[in-house]
Amino acid sequence: MKIVLLGAPGTGKGTQAQFISNQYNLPIISTGNILRKLVKKNTKVGNIINNSISNGKLVPDIIITTIVKNIIAKLKKETGFILDGFPRTIQQANELKKMGININYVFEFILSKDIILKRLQGRRVDPITETIYNINIDSNNNTKDLPKKLTIRTDDHINIINKRFQEYETTTKKLSNFFIEENKKHYLKYFKIDSNHQIEFINKKIKKILKCNKINI
Ligand code: AMP
Repeated sequence: MKIVLLGAPGTGKGTQAQFISNQYNLPIISTGNILRKLVKKNTKVGNIINNSISNGKLVPDIIITTIVKNIIAKLKKETGFILDGFPRTIQQANELKKMGININYVFEFILSKDIILKRLQGRRVDPITETIYNINIDSNNNTKDLPKKLTIRTDDHINIINKRFQEYETTTKKLSNFFIEENKKHYLKYFKIDSNHQIEFINKKIKKILKCNKINI
């Protein structure tokens, strides 16, 4: 089972990737996480990546597709995976096709811009465990004890969030129609998910979709 999670930043792709991964024992390929690790290495390519991320821009296609291709090439052909944050451009999606990869499920997460802005500004990361918290949601609901030392992602500041959202609107959103077209193929199913619900509600919805829409892979 090969799954793509689409959607603007802050729509919950990462959270749902973790849920699907736990449920179906699938590896997650999160391009954002991979790129942030490369930035820490402080190499020439790491600096180019850092420049894109910290300016709210997409990393050049050639860099990200090479990274993703290498990761997928290392997996067994029949192994499924979850792509969280890839593809983000039509060119990236075409590269997947060129590799002969048939994506089976695409979930596109939908959320209004004002909620996205609120969510991203409340996002915090535990620098040790890398667990993601949201100070607006987690502290109000008392669902999790917030660790004392939390950091803010460099691209989670309002001016950069706006630029990331702009990139999504002008570039990544086009993938919606791309995959709706692909949906006509027998091996791919595309679903829109309203992200304005509790995490557990969305978990259940995804689980039901995967249970009721079996594809012969
Ligand atoms: P994310 O953690 O998915 O929000 O990604 C953080 C940043 O990494 C994005 O704002 C982009 O700068 C970069 N990035 C992640 N995935 C991609 C991709 N598929 N193509 C280009 N840039 C990406």
